[in-house]
Amino acid sequence: MYDVLRSTYTFACPTRGETHVTLSSFRRLVRLPGAAHPAVYQVQFECACGEEHVGLVADDDLDWAPLGLAGGTFLNLMTSTFDAVADELAEVSALRIRAGEWPWSFFCYPEERPRPVFPSSFSLLAPGGAAVGLAVRCPVCSRISVNLVSPEHIDLPFHNDAQVGVVEHVFQADLPPTLEKFRAELYSSAFDYRRLTLE
Ligand SMILES: [Zn+2]
Ligand SMILES: [Zn+2]
Repeated sequence: MYDVLRSTYTFACPTRGETHVTLSSFRRLVRLPGAAHPAVYQVQFECACGEEHVGLVADDDLDWAPLGLAGGTFLNLMTSTFDAVADELAEVSALRIRAGEWPWSFFCYPEERPRPVFPSSFSLLAPGGAAVGLAVRCPVCSRISVNLVSPEHIDLPFHNDAQVGVVEHVFQADLPPTLEKFRAELYSSAFDYRRLTLE
């Protein structure tokens, strides 16, 4: 499902058979009701074939696989060499988290502070130029913030942009119903830059 060496997810594509996409190619994540262990997300993503498709991802694959910490699923398929790489990555990830580094972060606008986050809290992603508009549901206050970030900020764990654009608007419980409306609202909004670094 997740390829740690290429930082991509594998999905089915009706044209290509199989496609590999980065997290920043995701457009919408919706948690499906029911299953809690693992929780399953329906993901709408932009494929290299030019179309958008829908796939399913378990929370483990979203949040832990990029850190090398979601053993089971992909290790079974890989060689012992790859196991060693994954173990090393897991070890490095664990060390960095223990040292207080955040694999992913965002700026919570209602709380006016940076917060750590996992990709399963991402809701909508809309690219515009070099930046990606990212709607995140805060794991602490449950409210939605929209940040403008680099694709690397999303795709590479522990790569946190020094500052991010913050849409100065408190989104209601529900985001705009379609990706098009979100994109239109996002890129017509005022935003300001905030630092993500910790004090
Ligand atoms: Zn495709
Ligand atoms: Zn918050």
